[in-house]
Amino acid sequence: MNLVHTQINKTNPKIHYGHQWIDEADIQAVVDVLRSDWITTGPKVSEFEQAVADYVGAEYAVAVNSGTAALHAAMYAVGVGPGDEVILPPMTFVATANCVVFQGATPVFADVEPDTLLVNPAEVESKITERTKAIIAVDYAGQPCDYNALRNIAKRHDLSLVADACHSIGAQFNGRNVGTLADLSVFSFHPVKHITTGEGGMVVTDETKFAERMRRFRNHGISMDSRQRADHGTWYYEMEDLGYNYRITDFQCALGLSQLQNLPAFLERRRQIAAQYDESFSRLPEVEALGLREGVLHAYHLYVVKTKYPVLNLGRAKFFRKMREKSVDVNVHYIPVHMQPFYRKYFNTNPGLCSVAETAYEGILSLPIFPAMKAADVQRVITATNATVAEMRKESI
Ligand SMILES: *Cc1c(COP(=O)(O)O)cnc(C)c1O
Repeated sequence: MNLVHTQINKTNPKIHYGHQWIDEADIQAVVDVLRSDWITTGPKVSEFEQAVADYVGAEYAVAVNSGTAALHAAMYAVGVGPGDEVILPPMTFVATANCVVFQGATPVFADVEPDTLLVNPAEVESKITERTKAIIAVDYAGQPCDYNALRNIAKRHDLSLVADACHSIGAQFNGRNVGTLADLSVFSFHPVKHITTGEGGMVVTDETKFAERMRRFRNHGISMDSRQRADHGTWYYEMEDLGYNYRITDFQCALGLSQLQNLPAFLERRRQIAAQYDESFSRLPEVEALGLREGVLHAYHLYVVKTKYPVLNLGRAKFFRKMREKSVDVNVHYIPVHMQPFYRKYFNTNPGLCSVAETAYEGILSLPIFPAMKAADVQRVITATNATVAEMRKESI
């Protein structure tokens, strides 16, 4: 793996919270496809799908042009529609809730556990009504949710369980791979995620009917794609349902295939960095790592700490500013989705609805973590964190 492009260690040595790794093999893979006959709906799409399905151990994979499109396809696959409710945690990116609204259904927010910030299964169960159709679990930061509890609840109430696994490819729960823990699991290949296709996403599942539905959905609801028509020598096609153009290109899938080769090394590096952070911050009472559940193998898309100050919000704001002044581009993941103006306006989701997530939000901070970080970069983040804590101890928030 020879890294060719990274923006760190140039003239402005800012360390972002996440950044892609692109090497010469990645570039060559894309160029090769650009010189080939198929640049979209070609052989690289199914090759990438098969490779990801094999990697996680799922039967089927359907690639689309974003993680958001993948979430939308999953909602469509399980039959979410107008009048339905889907339960999900608010500690996630807005797309997790938006995909429910795309299908004309209502997102219902279930609060998270205070230590892991993963959805609390008891909260999920308390939100079930006769309209509930599905649960979306979010493997926040890269730690799998409690899938034993969630699968039990889904089974007892006859609900579909979808994993928003955009943070957690390569993670495990009780020795089982993410991608095999829910009815459908969704990945994103945005540049900050573990592997990238520029933009892109995928849904993996063991259910034939879900895979078939999603293949139609990504192609306008048409039952045969252009390569199948070419193979069959026919002009005829049928549009069976309303779908979208959510297709991904072959050059993106070639990039994804090449990136997948590096995924084990990427995961290892992320885990190394996290272990270094854990070790350093265990000495700082003001900076607490998120809880790690027993039996999980974390994928560390994010490294989130809870800053602890008497006036939480003010403390975090100051911490954030001081870190950024030191060229460490910390971030905040996430503003609880139910607090967004859109959800407050159209779904009456006012503050107080998920108080654990809301309180956690006031203190959380995401520190840089990505495979292209060098040892010196990790050390800089640690030094900046120690210095910030020392300054704040003196200044008292
Ligand atoms: C990145 C992400 C998405 C959306 O993926 P895109 O590829 O950016 O559309 C959805 N959910 C979560 C939790 C994510 O982190």
